[in-house]
Amino acid sequence: MRRIFIVLIIMAFLIIGCYTNNRGENSMHEYKLNENSMLYWLGHASFKIKTQDKTIYIDPFEIEDVETADIVLVTHSHYDHCSINDLKKIVGDGTVILAPGDCTSKFAGKVGGKLVLVSPGDKKTIEGIEIETVPSYNVNKQFHPQQNAWVGYIVDASGTRVYHAGDTDVIPEMSNFNVDVALLPVGGTYTMDAAEAAKACDAINPKVVIPMHYNKIVGNLESADEFKKLAKCNVEII
Ligand SMILES: [Zn+2]
Repeated sequence: MRRIFIVLIIMAFLIIGCYTNNRGENSMHEYKLNENSMLYWLGHASFKIKTQDKTIYIDPFEIEDVETADIVLVTHSHYDHCSINDLKKIVGDGTVILAPGDCTSKFAGKVGGKLVLVSPGDKKTIEGIEIETVPSYNVNKQFHPQQNAWVGYIVDASGTRVYHAGDTDVIPEMSNFNVDVALLPVGGTYTMDAAEAAKACDAINPKVVIPMHYNKIVGNLESADEFKKLAKCNVEII
């Protein structure tokens, strides 16, 4: 009897252990892109990419991981993506900020750095990093209309192509993207939900997908778990 009890306790710990791992028991919220580059999830849709010599932030919002950026990429003008407070934390004189026009007009004159206006379909080399912009919009809700010309980004991080989707639904353009790592929203309401993001995986077919845009404002930890369950691609919850 006592032995059965001990076995049950061990099984319970194992199950709890698997569950927490599935939740991303990755306290650093980091993912190794390649020998020279790391990706860090800073919560919501905020990420930092470190290559050998460049620091790139995407959609910084309520971030605590603060260092001077070489490049900042902003997908659209909503407060949780285009945050003046957060830009002030990381923008130095030499920082290049890429953003759509309605976003740059929000922070122009309030933060330093050099502004570069973008719209979907741009290809630029900034500080030696190749960056493409792609469309990012809603198809079954009104928050992010296609005519706003907001963007997602594809960043070449030392040969690994990282796609940050912005606040988007599943859109037909996705099947033409050639990316290795996709950062996809899963929280729903303003973006794709977990089931829709699973369909985006099929369209994009990346090597790895990292879910984002949950557990702050919209979605919760279950959104990421559900996405991992439904998606046919390789999902890393960080
Ligand atoms: Zn938005």
